[in-house]
Amino acid sequence: MARSMKISRIETFLAPPRWMFVRVETDAGVVGWGEPVVEGRAEPVRAAVAVLAEYLLGQDPARIEDHWQVMTKGGFYRGGPVLSSAVAGLDQALWDIKGKHCGMPVHQLLGGPVRERVRAYAWVGGDDPGAIRDAVTAQAEAGFTAVKMNGCGRMSPVATRAEVRACLLRAGTVREVLGDERDFALDFHGRVSPSNARRLLPLLAEYAPMFVEEPVLPEHTEALPGLVGAANIPLALGERLYTRREFLAPLQAGVAIVQPDVSHAGGISELRRIAALAETYGALLAPHCPLGPVALAACLQVAFTTPNFLIQEQSLGIHYNRDADLLDYAVDPEPFRFERGALLRTDRPGLGVEVDEHAVRAADAAGGHAWRNPVWRYDDGAFAEW
Ligand SMILES: [Mg+2]
Repeated sequence: MARSMKISRIETFLAPPRWMFVRVETDAGVVGWGEPVVEGRAEPVRAAVAVLAEYLLGQDPARIEDHWQVMTKGGFYRGGPVLSSAVAGLDQALWDIKGKHCGMPVHQLLGGPVRERVRAYAWVGGDDPGAIRDAVTAQAEAGFTAVKMNGCGRMSPVATRAEVRACLLRAGTVREVLGDERDFALDFHGRVSPSNARRLLPLLAEYAPMFVEEPVLPEHTEALPGLVGAANIPLALGERLYTRREFLAPLQAGVAIVQPDVSHAGGISELRRIAALAETYGALLAPHCPLGPVALAACLQVAFTTPNFLIQEQSLGIHYNRDADLLDYAVDPEPFRFERGALLRTDRPGLGVEVDEHAVRAADAAGGHAWRNPVWRYDDGAFAEW
């Protein structure tokens, strides 16, 4: 960088459907954007960004790694999704600033591209087989080569035969619609107990899902070796893990695919390190991203330069996007134009997305959002995992 800049202003904006943007301004006029958010916990993340901003104001934005270290470790009490998501969004914004200042896309600063297109999957919602059939057909006709859906709804701790059959019917229906040339993945969403997962995985193997996601809750790491051995289905997890250290045990257990979220797991800087750690285990990167345009752009920058990248999640049309969607806060939708289910590499500087600042400010001024995930209960009134 020719001359040093200073960070002069940091603002956050809550925006529907359940997102938050951070805008980092420098005294040279270069502005970077990030998405620091935990879905359903946006307000505490906003407060954490404000605390970290006390440190960043007046600093040189180019020293991304040093700022990452101080933001992550500089407080005696550290860790957890709120802090790491605040760091994540600020880290994205600092990479955006560096790229814009250098006139280069972030993937060039990270070592240059290793691929020209990033395969993505589309979400499919719905529970009844007819609706699933229509939704999968629509995504295939839109050009997507892979889809993902929840593997089940609320599930009893010991599943009934009907619950097991419903899960198998879902998988069978999707496979029948897609044929053998396209892929589908099932998300167990941490709502399946370890014993249910052990029962379901071998039964699902005949439908050959690309992967089963969050087969059990993140805290049931000790169940993973048994589940890896239970069926020839690649297991994926990681949207609720926040550091490279937290990925180590699942990788040692044989998880095939890691799914850190660029807005939860320390940003672009930590996502790169998690990918490198996974590479040493022969595991693949499939970043979690049901978020907005800045988070997706940050994922793409990593994907373009990461050798062990598999596939990208993206939120276009996802069931959560009720009051706004992926393209509503981007000035130009071109970076997110899918071509045969993939996004193409561009050389736009920084993260490669121009945020619609007017739309973001207006969304926050209108009250932002207060999104919370549902709380599920069993018929007897006891809490059930969502
Ligand atoms: Mg998931």
